[in-house]
Amino acid sequence: MVKSFTKSTQLFEKSKKVLVGGVNSPVRAFGSVGGTPLFISQAKGAYLWDEDGNRYLDYVGSWGPMILGHAYPSVIAAVQQAAESGTSFGAPTAREIEFARLIQQAFPSMEQIRFVNSGTEATMSAIRLARGFTGRDKIIKFEGAYHGHADYLLVKAGSGATTLGVPTSKGVPASFTEHTLLARYNDLAQVQQLLEQHRGEVAAIILEPVCGNMGLVAPQGPFLQQLAELAKAENVLLIFDEVMTGFRVAFGGAQELYGIRPDLSCLGKIIGGGLPVGAFGGRADIMAHLAPEGPVYQAGTLSGNPLAMAAGHAMIQALAEQKPYSQLNQTAKIIVDGIRERAEQRHIPMVAARLGSMFSFFFTDQAAVTNYDEVQQISADRFKVFYHGMLEQGVYLPPSPYEAWFLSTEHGEAEVEITLSAAEHALDLVKKS
Ligand SMILES: *Cc1c(COP(=O)(O)O)cnc(C)c1O
Repeated sequence: MVKSFTKSTQLFEKSKKVLVGGVNSPVRAFGSVGGTPLFISQAKGAYLWDEDGNRYLDYVGSWGPMILGHAYPSVIAAVQQAAESGTSFGAPTAREIEFARLIQQAFPSMEQIRFVNSGTEATMSAIRLARGFTGRDKIIKFEGAYHGHADYLLVKAGSGATTLGVPTSKGVPASFTEHTLLARYNDLAQVQQLLEQHRGEVAAIILEPVCGNMGLVAPQGPFLQQLAELAKAENVLLIFDEVMTGFRVAFGGAQELYGIRPDLSCLGKIIGGGLPVGAFGGRADIMAHLAPEGPVYQAGTLSGNPLAMAAGHAMIQALAEQKPYSQLNQTAKIIVDGIRERAEQRHIPMVAARLGSMFSFFFTDQAAVTNYDEVQQISADRFKVFYHGMLEQGVYLPPSPYEAWFLSTEHGEAEVEITLSAAEHALDLVKKS
Protein backbone atom coordinates (compact mmCIF):
# COMPACT_ATOMS: atom_id res chain seq x y z
CA MET A 1 0.00 0.00 0.00
CA VAL A 2 2.18 2.84 -1.24
CA LYS A 3 0.48 6.18 -0.96
CA SER A 4 1.10 9.26 -3.03
CA PHE A 5 1.49 12.50 -1.14
CA THR A 6 2.19 14.62 -4.23
CA LYS A 7 -0.59 17.13 -3.73
CA SER A 8 -0.08 17.50 0.00
CA THR A 9 3.64 18.03 -0.62
CA GLN A 10 2.94 20.70 -3.26
CA LEU A 11 0.37 22.41 -1.06
CA PHE A 12 2.74 22.41 1.90
CA GLU A 13 5.42 24.17 -0.18
CA LYS A 14 2.89 26.68 -1.44
CA SER A 15 1.45 27.18 2.01
CA LYS A 16 4.83 27.91 3.60
CA LYS A 17 5.14 30.97 1.35
CA VAL A 18 2.03 32.57 2.80
CA LEU A 19 1.36 30.89 6.16
CA VAL A 20 4.06 30.63 8.80
CA GLY A 21 5.44 27.10 8.70
CA GLY A 22 2.61 26.27 6.30
CA VAL A 23 0.09 25.89 9.09
CA ASN A 24 -2.12 27.84 11.48
CA SER A 25 -1.33 25.79 14.58
CA PRO A 26 2.17 24.36 15.14
CA VAL A 27 1.53 20.66 15.79
CA ARG A 28 -0.11 20.36 12.36
CA ALA A 29 3.28 20.85 10.70
CA PHE A 30 4.37 17.26 11.59
CA GLY A 31 7.48 18.67 13.31
CA SER A 32 7.78 15.84 15.81
CA VAL A 33 7.17 13.01 13.35
CA GLY A 34 8.78 14.41 10.20
CA GLY A 35 7.40 14.21 6.68
CA THR A 36 4.70 16.25 5.01
CA PRO A 37 1.49 17.18 6.78
CA LEU A 38 -1.58 15.88 5.00
CA PHE A 39 -3.83 18.52 3.52
CA ILE A 40 -7.36 17.37 4.21
CA SER A 41 -10.12 17.87 1.69
CA GLN A 42 -13.03 16.24 3.46
CA ALA A 43 -14.15 14.05 6.32
CA LYS A 44 -17.08 11.81 7.16
CA GLY A 45 -17.68 9.56 10.13
CA ALA A 46 -14.42 8.00 11.28
CA TYR A 47 -12.56 8.87 8.07
CA LEU A 48 -10.57 11.70 6.49
CA TRP A 49 -9.57 12.15 2.86
CA ASP A 50 -6.47 14.05 1.84
CA GLU A 51 -5.97 16.11 -1.32
CA ASP A 52 -4.30 13.13 -3.01
CA GLY A 53 -7.47 11.11 -2.51
CA ASN A 54 -6.04 8.84 0.21
CA ARG A 55 -8.50 7.75 2.88
CA TYR A 56 -7.51 7.56 6.54
CA LEU A 57 -9.08 6.22 9.67
CA ASP A 58 -8.90 9.26 11.95
CA TYR A 59 -7.81 9.26 15.59
CA VAL A 60 -7.28 13.01 15.82
CA GLY A 61 -10.96 13.94 15.60
CA SER A 62 -9.97 17.59 15.15
CA TRP A 63 -8.13 17.21 18.49
CA GLY A 64 -11.23 16.08 20.33
CA PRO A 65 -14.44 17.69 19.09
CA MET A 66 -15.50 14.93 16.68
CA ILE A 67 -16.76 12.50 19.29
CA LEU A 68 -19.73 11.62 17.05
CA GLY A 69 -17.58 11.38 13.94
CA HIS A 70 -17.05 13.95 11.21
CA ALA A 71 -19.87 15.81 9.49
CA TYR A 72 -22.48 14.65 11.97
CA PRO A 73 -25.83 15.19 10.22
CA SER A 74 -27.72 17.13 12.91
CA VAL A 75 -24.74 19.44 13.47
CA ILE A 76 -24.41 20.17 9.75
CA ALA A 77 -28.14 20.81 9.46
CA ALA A 78 -28.12 23.13 12.48
CA VAL A 79 -25.27 25.19 11.04
CA GLN A 80 -26.91 25.43 7.63
CA GLN A 81 -30.20 26.47 9.14
CA ALA A 82 -28.62 29.05 11.42
CA ALA A 83 -26.59 30.54 8.55
CA GLU A 84 -29.79 31.27 6.63
CA SER A 85 -30.78 33.69 9.37
CA GLY A 86 -27.51 35.57 9.45
CA THR A 87 -24.03 34.70 10.64
CA SER A 88 -23.55 37.21 13.47
CA PHE A 89 -25.53 39.93 15.20
CA GLY A 90 -23.34 41.14 18.05
CA ALA A 91 -26.47 41.09 20.21
CA PRO A 92 -28.00 38.53 22.55
CA THR A 93 -29.95 35.60 21.08
CA ALA A 94 -32.32 32.97 22.48
CA ARG A 95 -29.93 30.27 21.27
CA GLU A 96 -27.31 31.27 23.83
CA ILE A 97 -29.74 30.69 26.70
CA GLU A 98 -30.84 27.30 25.42
CA PHE A 99 -27.29 26.18 24.86
CA ALA A 100 -26.13 27.39 28.28
CA ARG A 101 -28.99 25.50 29.93
CA LEU A 102 -28.09 22.36 28.04
CA ILE A 103 -24.50 22.62 29.24
CA GLN A 104 -25.72 23.09 32.81
CA GLN A 105 -27.53 19.76 32.64
CA ALA A 106 -24.15 18.14 32.26
CA PHE A 107 -22.16 20.60 34.38
CA PRO A 108 -24.35 21.70 37.31
CA SER A 109 -21.29 23.36 38.89
CA MET A 110 -21.48 25.99 36.12
CA GLU A 111 -24.20 28.06 37.76
CA GLN A 112 -23.44 30.96 35.45
CA ILE A 113 -21.73 30.68 32.09
CA ARG A 114 -19.89 32.96 29.63
CA PHE A 115 -19.30 31.83 26.06
CA VAL A 116 -16.05 32.67 24.32
CA ASN A 117 -14.40 31.56 21.07
CA SER A 118 -11.67 29.16 22.15
CA GLY A 119 -10.31 27.13 25.03
CA THR A 120 -7.50 29.63 25.39
CA GLU A 121 -9.97 32.44 25.98
CA ALA A 122 -11.89 30.34 28.49
CA THR A 123 -8.87 29.59 30.68
CA MET A 124 -7.36 33.07 30.56
CA SER A 125 -10.71 34.63 31.40
CA ALA A 126 -11.38 32.17 34.22
CA ILE A 127 -7.99 32.97 35.72
CA ARG A 128 -8.53 36.72 35.44
CA LEU A 129 -11.83 36.24 37.19
CA ALA A 130 -10.25 34.10 39.93
CA ARG A 131 -7.66 36.81 40.49
CA GLY A 132 -10.26 39.55 40.49
CA PHE A 133 -12.50 37.65 42.88
CA THR A 134 -9.79 36.70 45.38
CA GLY A 135 -7.63 39.80 45.03
CA ARG A 136 -4.59 37.51 44.75
CA ASP A 137 -2.10 37.21 41.89
CA LYS A 138 -0.55 33.75 41.98
CA ILE A 139 -1.83 30.60 40.35
CA ILE A 140 -0.65 27.02 40.55
CA LYS A 141 -0.49 24.91 37.40
CA PHE A 142 0.94 21.48 36.73
CA GLU A 143 3.96 20.61 34.62
CA GLY A 144 2.99 19.24 31.24
CA ALA A 145 -0.51 20.70 31.42
CA TYR A 146 -1.67 22.85 28.52
CA HIS A 147 -4.22 25.55 29.13
CA GLY A 148 -3.99 27.44 25.86
CA HIS A 149 -1.41 29.98 24.80
CA ALA A 150 -1.85 32.90 27.22
CA ASP A 151 1.54 34.32 28.23
CA TYR A 152 1.59 33.32 31.88
CA LEU A 153 0.32 29.80 31.13
CA LEU A 154 3.16 28.96 28.76
CA VAL A 155 5.22 27.56 31.57
CA LYS A 156 5.69 23.90 31.96
CA ALA A 157 9.25 22.83 31.96
CA GLY A 158 12.15 22.53 34.17
CA SER A 159 12.75 24.33 37.27
CA GLY A 160 10.87 22.15 39.70
CA ALA A 161 7.79 22.89 41.62
CA THR A 162 9.13 25.11 44.30
CA THR A 163 10.79 27.67 42.05
CA LEU A 164 9.11 30.31 39.94
CA GLY A 165 8.13 29.44 36.41
CA VAL A 166 10.33 30.15 33.42
CA PRO A 167 8.53 30.86 30.15
CA THR A 168 8.78 28.17 27.48
CA SER A 169 8.12 30.63 24.65
CA LYS A 170 10.16 33.60 23.51
CA GLY A 171 8.16 36.80 23.67
CA VAL A 172 6.89 36.13 27.17
CA PRO A 173 8.54 38.48 29.66
CA ALA A 174 9.80 36.64 32.72
CA SER A 175 7.82 39.09 34.84
CA PHE A 176 4.61 37.80 33.23
CA THR A 177 5.19 34.30 34.56
CA GLU A 178 6.43 35.23 38.01
CA HIS A 179 2.98 34.56 39.43
CA THR A 180 2.76 31.10 37.88
CA LEU A 181 3.77 28.36 40.31
CA LEU A 182 4.47 24.89 39.00
CA ALA A 183 3.70 21.57 40.61
CA ARG A 184 4.15 17.99 39.52
CA TYR A 185 0.89 16.33 38.48
CA ASN A 186 -0.22 13.57 40.87
CA ASP A 187 2.01 15.03 43.61
CA LEU A 188 -0.20 16.47 46.32
CA ALA A 189 2.69 17.16 48.70
CA GLN A 190 4.20 19.64 46.25
CA VAL A 191 0.96 21.54 45.98
CA GLN A 192 0.70 21.60 49.75
CA GLN A 193 4.23 22.94 50.01
CA LEU A 194 3.55 25.69 47.46
CA LEU A 195 0.41 26.74 49.30
CA GLU A 196 2.32 26.93 52.58
CA GLN A 197 5.12 28.95 51.00
CA HIS A 198 2.70 31.37 49.38
CA ARG A 199 -0.07 31.45 51.92
CA GLY A 200 -2.61 34.14 51.14
CA GLU A 201 -1.13 34.80 47.68
CA VAL A 202 -2.61 32.03 45.56
CA ALA A 203 -5.85 32.81 43.71
CA ALA A 204 -6.41 29.43 42.08
CA ILE A 205 -5.18 26.02 41.15
CA ILE A 206 -5.85 25.29 37.49
CA LEU A 207 -5.57 21.80 36.14
CA GLU A 208 -6.55 19.37 33.47
CA PRO A 209 -8.31 16.92 35.81
CA VAL A 210 -7.21 14.22 33.39
CA CYS A 211 -4.12 15.33 31.48
CA GLY A 212 -4.37 14.99 27.74
CA ASN A 213 -1.68 17.33 26.52
CA MET A 214 1.34 15.28 27.55
CA GLY A 215 -0.22 12.14 26.24
CA LEU A 216 -2.99 10.72 28.40
CA VAL A 217 -1.99 10.84 32.07
CA ALA A 218 -4.80 10.03 34.48
CA PRO A 219 -5.06 11.08 38.13
CA GLN A 220 -3.70 8.46 40.51
CA GLY A 221 -5.83 7.18 43.37
CA PRO A 222 -7.47 9.94 45.39
CA PHE A 223 -5.28 12.73 43.93
CA LEU A 224 -8.17 14.82 42.59
CA GLN A 225 -10.33 14.49 45.69
CA GLN A 226 -7.42 15.37 47.96
CA LEU A 227 -6.49 18.31 45.77
CA ALA A 228 -10.06 19.59 45.92
CA GLU A 229 -10.09 19.26 49.72
CA LEU A 230 -6.75 21.01 49.99
CA ALA A 231 -7.91 23.90 47.80
CA LYS A 232 -11.00 24.28 49.91
CA ALA A 233 -9.09 24.16 53.20
CA GLU A 234 -6.62 26.77 51.93
CA ASN A 235 -9.39 28.93 50.52
CA VAL A 236 -7.96 28.75 47.00
CA LEU A 237 -10.23 28.45 43.96
CA LEU A 238 -10.19 25.20 42.03
CA ILE A 239 -10.40 25.59 38.24
CA PHE A 240 -11.01 22.49 36.17
CA ASP A 241 -9.83 22.97 32.62
CA GLU A 242 -12.20 20.53 30.95
CA VAL A 243 -11.63 21.87 27.45
CA MET A 244 -10.55 18.36 26.44
CA THR A 245 -12.30 16.17 29.02
CA GLY A 246 -15.69 17.92 29.02
CA PHE A 247 -18.29 15.72 27.28
CA ARG A 248 -15.39 13.33 26.51
CA VAL A 249 -14.53 11.25 29.58
CA ALA A 250 -18.18 11.39 30.65
CA PHE A 251 -21.19 13.52 29.68
CA GLY A 252 -20.44 15.74 32.67
CA GLY A 253 -16.67 15.55 32.17
CA ALA A 254 -14.08 14.60 34.76
CA GLN A 255 -16.05 16.39 37.47
CA GLU A 256 -18.92 13.96 37.02
CA LEU A 257 -16.58 10.98 36.77
CA TYR A 258 -14.70 11.85 39.98
CA GLY A 259 -17.55 13.51 41.85
CA ILE A 260 -15.87 16.88 42.33
CA ARG A 261 -17.51 20.29 42.12
CA PRO A 262 -14.86 22.81 41.04
CA ASP A 263 -15.34 26.52 41.67
CA LEU A 264 -14.82 27.32 37.99
CA SER A 265 -14.74 25.17 34.86
CA CYS A 266 -13.51 25.75 31.32
CA LEU A 267 -14.95 24.05 28.26
CA GLY A 268 -14.09 24.03 24.56
CA LYS A 269 -13.47 21.50 21.81
CA ILE A 270 -16.59 19.22 21.88
CA ILE A 271 -18.97 22.01 22.90
CA GLY A 272 -18.45 23.70 19.53
CA GLY A 273 -19.26 20.62 17.47
CA GLY A 274 -16.28 21.62 15.32
CA LEU A 275 -16.92 25.36 15.36
CA PRO A 276 -14.84 27.70 17.51
CA VAL A 277 -16.50 27.81 20.93
CA GLY A 278 -15.20 27.98 24.46
CA ALA A 279 -17.01 28.58 27.73
CA PHE A 280 -16.20 29.18 31.33
CA GLY A 281 -18.48 29.23 34.30
CA GLY A 282 -18.95 28.26 37.89
CA ARG A 283 -20.13 29.52 41.25
CA ALA A 284 -22.63 32.34 40.82
CA ASP A 285 -20.98 34.48 43.50
CA ILE A 286 -17.69 34.32 41.60
CA MET A 287 -19.21 34.81 38.15
CA ALA A 288 -20.98 37.92 39.47
CA HIS A 289 -17.58 39.62 39.47
CA LEU A 290 -17.51 39.47 35.67
CA ALA A 291 -18.48 42.48 33.52
CA PRO A 292 -21.13 43.78 33.04
CA GLU A 293 -22.18 42.74 36.58
CA GLY A 294 -18.78 43.13 38.16
CA PRO A 295 -15.38 44.75 37.73
CA VAL A 296 -13.51 41.93 35.91
CA TYR A 297 -13.49 42.74 32.20
CA GLN A 298 -14.02 40.18 29.47
CA ALA A 299 -15.59 40.60 26.05
CA GLY A 300 -15.81 39.16 22.52
CA THR A 301 -17.22 40.51 19.24
CA LEU A 302 -18.14 37.03 18.04
CA SER A 303 -18.80 35.38 21.41
CA GLY A 304 -22.05 33.42 21.37
CA ASN A 305 -21.93 33.40 17.57
CA PRO A 306 -25.17 31.95 16.17
CA LEU A 307 -23.51 29.34 13.94
CA ALA A 308 -21.27 28.18 16.75
CA MET A 309 -24.15 28.05 19.24
CA ALA A 310 -26.27 26.07 16.79
CA ALA A 311 -23.49 23.57 16.11
CA GLY A 312 -22.70 23.17 19.80
CA HIS A 313 -26.34 22.79 20.74
CA ALA A 314 -26.92 20.08 18.14
CA MET A 315 -23.79 18.29 19.29
CA ILE A 316 -24.60 18.31 23.01
CA GLN A 317 -28.23 17.46 22.31
CA ALA A 318 -27.11 14.39 20.35
CA LEU A 319 -24.75 13.37 23.16
CA ALA A 320 -27.50 13.83 25.75
CA GLU A 321 -29.81 11.59 23.74
CA GLN A 322 -27.30 8.92 22.80
CA LYS A 323 -25.19 8.74 25.97
CA PRO A 324 -22.49 6.95 23.95
CA TYR A 325 -19.98 6.74 26.77
CA SER A 326 -20.16 3.07 27.65
CA GLN A 327 -19.96 2.12 23.97
CA LEU A 328 -16.95 4.42 23.49
CA ASN A 329 -15.36 2.93 26.59
CA GLN A 330 -15.74 -0.60 25.32
CA THR A 331 -14.35 0.10 21.88
CA ALA A 332 -11.44 2.06 23.33
CA LYS A 333 -10.63 -0.81 25.67
CA ILE A 334 -10.51 -3.31 22.81
CA ILE A 335 -8.17 -1.07 20.83
CA VAL A 336 -5.87 -0.28 23.73
CA ASP A 337 -5.70 -3.87 25.00
CA GLY A 338 -5.17 -5.07 21.44
CA ILE A 339 -2.26 -2.75 20.77
CA ARG A 340 -0.74 -3.44 24.18
CA GLU A 341 -0.85 -7.22 23.55
CA ARG A 342 0.70 -6.81 20.13
CA ALA A 343 3.54 -4.77 21.61
CA GLU A 344 4.05 -7.39 24.34
CA GLN A 345 4.18 -10.20 21.76
CA ARG A 346 7.03 -8.31 20.12
CA HIS A 347 8.74 -7.48 23.41
CA ILE A 348 8.43 -3.77 22.75
CA PRO A 349 8.32 -1.93 26.07
CA MET A 350 5.26 0.29 26.11
CA VAL A 351 2.84 1.86 28.55
CA ALA A 352 -0.74 1.98 27.26
CA ALA A 353 -2.80 4.60 29.07
CA ARG A 354 -6.53 5.09 28.68
CA LEU A 355 -9.38 6.94 30.27
CA GLY A 356 -12.70 6.48 28.51
CA SER A 357 -12.22 7.25 24.83
CA MET A 358 -8.89 9.08 25.22
CA PHE A 359 -5.70 7.05 25.12
CA SER A 360 -1.97 7.12 24.53
CA PHE A 361 0.85 4.68 23.94
CA PHE A 362 4.17 5.60 25.49
CA PHE A 363 7.26 3.84 24.19
CA THR A 364 9.13 3.47 27.45
CA ASP A 365 10.33 0.74 29.80
CA GLN A 366 8.93 2.55 32.83
CA ALA A 367 6.17 0.65 34.60
CA ALA A 368 3.78 3.62 34.42
CA VAL A 369 3.66 7.23 33.29
CA THR A 370 2.14 9.51 35.91
CA ASN A 371 3.74 12.93 35.40
CA TYR A 372 5.63 15.15 32.98
CA ASP A 373 9.10 13.97 34.06
CA GLU A 374 8.12 10.42 33.22
CA VAL A 375 6.51 11.48 29.95
CA GLN A 376 9.79 13.06 28.90
CA GLN A 377 11.59 9.73 29.18
CA ILE A 378 9.67 8.16 26.29
CA SER A 379 11.33 7.28 22.99
CA ALA A 380 10.33 9.89 20.44
CA ASP A 381 12.20 7.92 17.75
CA ARG A 382 10.10 4.81 18.26
CA PHE A 383 6.94 6.89 18.13
CA LYS A 384 8.06 8.35 14.80
CA VAL A 385 8.51 4.91 13.27
CA PHE A 386 5.17 3.76 14.71
CA TYR A 387 3.47 6.91 13.43
CA HIS A 388 4.58 6.50 9.84
CA GLY A 389 3.88 2.77 9.95
CA MET A 390 0.28 3.53 10.93
CA LEU A 391 -0.02 6.29 8.33
CA GLU A 392 1.16 3.95 5.54
CA GLN A 393 -1.64 1.60 6.57
CA GLY A 394 -4.17 4.41 6.42
CA VAL A 395 -4.48 5.27 10.09
CA TYR A 396 -4.09 8.94 10.98
CA LEU A 397 -2.81 9.54 14.52
CA PRO A 398 -2.03 12.81 16.29
CA PRO A 399 1.41 13.67 14.86
CA SER A 400 3.10 13.95 18.24
CA PRO A 401 3.98 11.51 21.02
CA TYR A 402 2.55 14.02 23.51
CA GLU A 403 -1.03 14.00 22.28
CA ALA A 404 -3.89 11.67 23.12
CA TRP A 405 -5.81 9.70 20.50
CA PHE A 406 -9.53 10.41 20.32
CA LEU A 407 -12.15 7.85 19.48
CA SER A 408 -15.54 8.55 17.94
CA THR A 409 -18.80 6.63 17.94
CA GLU A 410 -18.20 5.95 14.24
CA HIS A 411 -15.24 3.73 15.10
CA GLY A 412 -16.91 0.31 14.94
CA GLU A 413 -15.76 -3.27 14.58
CA ALA A 414 -14.36 -2.78 11.09
CA GLU A 415 -12.33 0.20 12.32
CA VAL A 416 -11.00 -1.74 15.29
CA GLU A 417 -9.86 -4.43 12.86
CA ILE A 418 -8.14 -1.88 10.60
CA THR A 419 -6.42 -0.31 13.61
CA LEU A 420 -5.12 -3.54 15.10
CA SER A 421 -3.81 -4.91 11.83
CA ALA A 422 -2.14 -1.56 11.07
CA ALA A 423 -0.61 -1.65 14.55
CA GLU A 424 0.91 -5.07 13.84
CA HIS A 425 2.64 -3.65 10.80
CA ALA A 426 3.75 -0.50 12.62
CA LEU A 427 5.02 -2.42 15.64
CA ASP A 428 6.99 -4.75 13.37
CA LEU A 429 8.70 -1.64 12.01
CA VAL A 430 9.36 -0.39 15.55
CA LYS A 431 10.86 -3.78 16.42
CA LYS A 432 13.21 -3.57 13.43
CA SER A 433 14.20 0.05 14.08
C1 LIG B 1 -7.07 22.47 23.57
C2 LIG B 1 -6.95 22.87 24.98
C3 LIG B 1 -6.94 24.23 25.36
C4 LIG B 1 -6.89 25.34 24.36
O1 LIG B 1 -8.02 25.41 23.57
P1 LIG B 1 -7.95 26.22 22.18
O2 LIG B 1 -9.35 26.16 21.68
O3 LIG B 1 -6.95 25.48 21.34
O4 LIG B 1 -7.50 27.59 22.51
C5 LIG B 1 -6.94 24.53 26.70
N1 LIG B 1 -6.93 23.56 27.62
C6 LIG B 1 -6.93 22.26 27.30
C7 LIG B 1 -6.96 21.23 28.38
C8 LIG B 1 -6.93 21.87 25.97
O5 LIG B 1 -6.88 20.58 25.65
